[in-house]
Amino acid sequence: MAKILAIANQKGGVGKTTTSVNLAACLAAKKKRVLLVDCDPQGNATSGYGIQKSELDGTIYDVLINGQGIDDVLQKTEYRVDVVPANIELAGAEVELVAAISRETRLKKALDGVRERYDFIVIDCPPSLGLLTLNSLAAADAVLMPIQCEFYALEGVSQLMNTIRLVRDNLNPALAIEGVVMTMYDSRTKLAADVVAEVRKNFGNIVYKTLIPRTVRLSEAPSYGQPILYYDKRSKGAEVYMELAKEVLKREKK
Ligand code: ADP
Ligand code: MG
Repeated sequence: MAKILAIANQKGGVGKTTTSVNLAACLAAKKKRVLLVDCDPQGNATSGYGIQKSELDGTIYDVLINGQGIDDVLQKTEYRVDVVPANIELAGAEVELVAAISRETRLKKALDGVRERYDFIVIDCPPSLGLLTLNSLAAADAVLMPIQCEFYALEGVSQLMNTIRLVRDNLNPALAIEGVVMTMYDSRTKLAADVVAEVRKNFGNIVYKTLIPRTVRLSEAPSYGQPILYYDKRSKGAEVYMELAKEVLKREKK
C-alpha cells in the first residue's frame, strides 16, 4: 500500500514543486514504485517531467470534477515515475468544487483505486489552503513541509498547522507530519544557519538533516523537463535529493 505524502506550504516559491519532482525521481531510483500527482494549476511538476501541459487529453481536473479515474489521465515517464498531470484548467476546480458533493475527499477516493500499485504517492500542492490543498491533505498519510531558508521562513507555518489540525478533526484523523525540509540553504550566510536553528527549535527532529542548497542546476532542470537526477546526475542537487529520499525511506522503516 502506497504511503501518500502531501508536499505542502501555502507560501509560493518555497520549493514544493522542486521537492515533489526530485523526491519522486529519487525514490523511484531507489526502486520504489512512485506516482506523482500534480495538484497545482501552474502544472510545474507536470512540465518538470517533460510533459506538455497544453497537449493533455486528461488531467487531475477531470479526476476531481468529471469523475474520471487516475488511470484515465495517468502519464508514464522515462524516469520510472508515473505522473497525474495538471494544467491551468485546474484553477477552475477550486471554484467548481465549492458546490460539489464530497468536495474534500474526491482525490482520496480516486487514489484509493491505485494505491495498491505504488509504494509512494507524492502530491505537489498549490500555494494556497483552498480545496485543492484540502483534497491533498484529506488523501495523505503525512505532510512534508518545505521551508525556505529566509527571514520570514516561519511566517504562515502556523496557518498550515491550523489547517492540518482542522483536517485531522474533520476529514483525516490519522494525518501525520512526515517532516520539514529546509530549502534554498546558503551555507555562506549566517541568516540561513539562524533560520535552520530556529526551525529546528520549533519542530525538533522532524526536520530532515539534509539541507537543500540553493543551486543553479536545480532551477535549470525544469526547463529541460527533467528531474535533477537525469539533468545532471553528478550535481549537488542530485546528491542532496538522493540524501533526502534516503532519510524518507529510513523514517518509513521505523
Ligand atoms: P513552489 O512549488 O513552492 O512554489 P518551486 O519548487 O517552484 O516552489 O521553487 C520556486 C523557484 O525556485 C523555482 O524557479 C525553482 O526552480 C527555484 N528553486 C527551488 N529550489 C531551488 C534550489 N534549491 N536552488 C535554486 N533554485 C531553486
Ligand atoms: Mg509549486
